[in-house]
Amino acid sequence: MIKKEFRAESKRMMEMMINSIYTHKEIFLRELISNASDAIDKIYYKALTDNDMVFNQEDYYIKVTTDMANRTLTITDTGIGMSKEELENNLGVIAKSGSLAFKKENEAKDGHNIIGQFGVGFYAAFMVADVVTVISKALGSNEAFKWESHGADGYTIESCDKNSVGTEIILKIKENTEDDQYDEYLEEYRLRGIIKKYSDFIRFPIKMDVKEQ
Ligand code: ADP
Ligand code: MG
Repeated sequence: MIKKEFRAESKRMMEMMINSIYTHKEIFLRELISNASDAIDKIYYKALTDNDMVFNQEDYYIKVTTDMANRTLTITDTGIGMSKEELENNLGVIAKSGSLAFKKENEAKDGHNIIGQFGVGFYAAFMVADVVTVISKALGSNEAFKWESHGADGYTIESCDKNSVGTEIILKIKENTEDDQYDEYLEEYRLRGIIKKYSDFIRFPIKMDVKEQ
């Protein structure tokens, strides 16, 4: 499989995230849940207004799953999903809004408390994960694709199986180091706390599914 390179500016942003000394790494979850919510908004509106689509309130939710043994944290949504092109174009590209503003600001000032004020977006995942896998199936498509990146050196895309429309973001959580603790992002209590703190206003249910060992 061919590994594709990120664009230069995305690569720099990614390196910043990976090597981040930022102490509020927990905001990665806020970013991923907000993306999930945006994606559900899009399909929700379609389902409500499109007579050809069945509308079922219970079909729209976000799920946070942890697996201690495999060190994975997965954020699943039943949103609109991404096609292969959308995976290519939307992930690992600096968003027009939050990320770029953050980057500029960050170059001007010196770093620390700034990340929290801007949406750094999808990139934030790389503060806590050394592998990020995105499995997605777009509304109206019968194909699903898997995007995967181990960091700034690039990403791969291949076709894969996924039954339902929506997106699954799988984070392989980093190992603890002397300076940084990551295990907490696999702990239910901690994750519930982060969700409560930053995502309380999200209007779709956020379910949790915890596998301890
Ligand atoms: P922003 O949310 O500010 O646009 P992000 O970096 O958070 O920037 O996300 C980039 C883009 O990737 C989003 O605009 C969206 O198109 C796409 N995306 C990210 N996560 C998802 C998701 N869970 N479902 C569908 N699309 C997504
Ligand atoms: Mg976002």
